[in-house]
Amino acid sequence: MPKPNTLERNVSLKPYNTFGIDVTALQFMEIDDNATLKEVLFSKEHPDSLIIGGGSNILLTKDLERLVIHLNTKGIEVLNKTQNHAQVEIQAGEVWHDFVLWALVHDLGGIENLSLIPGNVGTAPVQNIGAYGVELKDVFVSCQALDLKENKQVSFTKEDCAFGYRDSVFKRNKGRYIITSVILELTTRNHQKNISYGAIASQLKEQGIEHPSINQISDAVISIRQSKLPDPKVLGNGGSFFKNPVVLVEQFTQIQKQYPDIPHYNFGENQIKIPAGWLIEQCGYKGKRYKEVGVHKNQALVLVNYGDAKGEQLWELAQNIQKSVKDKFNVYIEPEVNIY
Ligand SMILES: Cc1cc2nc3c(=O)[nH]c(=O)nc-3n(C[C@H](O)[C@H](O)[C@H](O)COP(=O)(O)OP(=O)(O)OC[C@H]3O[C@@H](n4cnc5c(N)ncnc54)[C@H](O)[C@@H]3O)c2cc1C
Repeated sequence: MPKPNTLERNVSLKPYNTFGIDVTALQFMEIDDNATLKEVLFSKEHPDSLIIGGGSNILLTKDLERLVIHLNTKGIEVLNKTQNHAQVEIQAGEVWHDFVLWALVHDLGGIENLSLIPGNVGTAPVQNIGAYGVELKDVFVSCQALDLKENKQVSFTKEDCAFGYRDSVFKRNKGRYIITSVILELTTRNHQKNISYGAIASQLKEQGIEHPSINQISDAVISIRQSKLPDPKVLGNGGSFFKNPVVLVEQFTQIQKQYPDIPHYNFGENQIKIPAGWLIEQCGYKGKRYKEVGVHKNQALVLVNYGDAKGEQLWELAQNIQKSVKDKFNVYIEPEVNIY
């Protein structure tokens, strides 16, 4: 285990990414307090540092010559609590699912549908994490961050974050803002439960639960996720490798003429979202294995490391998939995972 707040050299990043890729960081620091984080990042000694949280949304394709910081700042504080709501500030290094469990213990609602998403709280705004009909933006109030371009501490409101589908100002300005804490507003009673998502509804129905508690919704989500997605501890993966592409209605209509069964969802005005997993499956990749890498047998959006894969092998497979989808459907699928 690395000593906190101490510069180490030549550290394997295998335990720090859920793909389980074994690359080396020339310099590495585990940071557990905000003062050290600020000092290191503002010092200009390490202008190109890479921050890693849970490492569940990164693909490492080479050894990193720069400083890699594993953010491990902890702390949860209730800032204020009214009859209906509580605002809670969470330090960036808290594990997201641990925080969800904390909220459930304190009967705070709003994030139960986001149970079991890997990663840290501080990273959750970066791609506006979402699952089963809920996104982080639904409970987000503000966050604190370090602006590495201006070398100053900044505060972001929900509007400043410009959240979109797996997108935010942080993702669009990669590496510029390092989030240090997040404030969320959760419900203390009259929880706004969202059980409209098909899989949750049928799971609860199967259990004979008509009016679920937030704990029961969380349990249903956990059970669905465990049955559908590979556990990175068992089979290295980064969750959905690609975002679902959004195309104009005219383009979609053309594709639909050839593939009448194509699944799709309306997305804002004049746009349609197509499940990337379906497109990849149509190209014949689902369940395929290529030596140490492959596409998961139950979920074509998930690329997996069967053991000792190199990051480049996974990236090569991802690019082949992108090309096949482009050739077959004339649709570009953008990686959701951050490639380094
Ligand atoms: C099995 C599995 C299932 C998943 N399911 C979902 C899902 O349902 N919904 C969903 O939205 N996502 C899902 N993901 C993706 C992932 O969990 C989220 O993107 C998560 O927020 C990543 O957090 P992390 O701390 O692991 O990020 P990391 O992988 O450590 O970092 C991701 C990126 O954010 C940057 N970063 C890290 N910390 C900070 C910070 N404090 N400030 C600014 N930038 C930072 C990194 O430099 C990197 O570019 C899944 C992943 C896996 C492996």
